[in-house]
Amino acid sequence: MRKKGLTTSSIGSKVVMVTITRKRAKLSDSRKIRMTRQRQVILEAIREVDCHPTADEVYEIVRQRLPHISLGTVYRNLEILSEEGLTQKLALGGPQKRFDGDTKKHYHVRCICCGRVDDVPMEPLTSVEDALRGVSDYEITGHSLEFLGLCPHCKKNTYDTGRGGDENA
Ligand SMILES: [Zn+2]
Ligand SMILES: [Zn+2]
Repeated sequence: MRKKGLTTSSIGSKVVMVTITRKRAKLSDSRKIRMTRQRQVILEAIREVDCHPTADEVYEIVRQRLPHISLGTVYRNLEILSEEGLTQKLALGGPQKRFDGDTKKHYHVRCICCGRVDDVPMEPLTSVEDALRGVSDYEITGHSLEFLGLCPHCKKNTYDTGRGGDENA
């Protein structure tokens, strides 16, 4: 599953994210990935929605435009698009992987009740990595951070029914 023809090291993905930061770079100036029609529709679907869809949800959207596409094809192309840095495969908790059309580094909050994922308005904390330099034997190349909480909908339900929402993920 390594990238072909790219001399990326372990920090490669970080570099890719930075170069794509330019406001959802157009397909043409991204990479030499072969942009099939299927791939393009999948990518558009992810970029159109702000909900960090799962592969199944992407499939439901794409199927409206390409009725004959299979779930396996969607899965496979999501992996390729993620490897090429055109989407982000989010390393979040929860049962299903989610995908993000916004490829720049940002943090997420996940609802512990319904699993909804949203962006949080916070700049990446690069200083937390500096704190480990010279302290850890590892060469630190990045970090991930996920916030947990109750989304507005579940928060309301919790107060209305007076229970729920303590299922830790
Ligand atoms: Zn929720
Ligand atoms: Zn996001």
